[in-house]
Amino acid sequence: MKKIVIALDGYSSCGKSTTAKLVASELGYAYIDTGAMYRAVTLYFLEHHVSLTNPKEIRDALGHIEVEFHHNPKTSRNEVFLNGLNVEDEIRKMYISNQVSEVSVVPEVRHAMVAQQQKMGRKRGVVMDGRDIGTAVFPDAEVKIFMTADVDTRARRRQDELLEKKQLVNLDEIKENLQKRDHIDSTRQESPLRRAEDAHLLDTSHMTIDEQVEFVLEKAASHILSNQMALEQN
Ligand code: C5P
Repeated sequence: MKKIVIALDGYSSCGKSTTAKLVASELGYAYIDTGAMYRAVTLYFLEHHVSLTNPKEIRDALGHIEVEFHHNPKTSRNEVFLNGLNVEDEIRKMYISNQVSEVSVVPEVRHAMVAQQQKMGRKRGVVMDGRDIGTAVFPDAEVKIFMTADVDTRARRRQDELLEKKQLVNLDEIKENLQKRDHIDSTRQESPLRRAEDAHLLDTSHMTIDEQVEFVLEKAASHILSNQMALEQN
């Protein structure tokens, strides 16, 4: 069966990665967490004191950054490696969340990440989540979903996620961070977060993870089916 690209975009912490992971595993597709790539770049920039106002420093730094995903059979997770080092836990910390949107605004950073993401998905058969997948990375994605949820629900979910990783963060701090990131992500010049015209809207405020996964799988199945019918008619 012809493989497709499923693009999941939307606001911070509305369940994109959990949904994307489960959809990918159900379809036997690769899952690519593009937010993790921007987080890894942010970690590198902070560690190497890269100035965000110095394009040459940024270009040089990007030349030294390699971000990869490796499957960990022990945790059944795809983990993020920065230049060969596992940074999965580090990049989820609040100090990275507090800086990542400023780094993601930089055009050189976006160009480098988008090019890598397009390469990763060139054979299709991927579920990719982020902010600009359906608009900039794969505008030709067969299935596009735009996810949202009310900010209090998102903040509580994020707090639970962090607690699972033994990080206790105040709810107001999380909410402020989500709102700040949403604002920067939606108003930046280069590939801002916005709903693609052909994206299905998915408000997860009152949905379970299973329902979210079901929604995306149903859109994928109906695309694949209508494609097959069109092929048979020709
Ligand atoms: O998805 P996650 O919350 O981990 O993403 C972290 C940040 O990375 C976002 O707030 C956004 O600034 C940036 N990002 C982006 N484009 C993407 C994915 C993430 O700008 N495709």
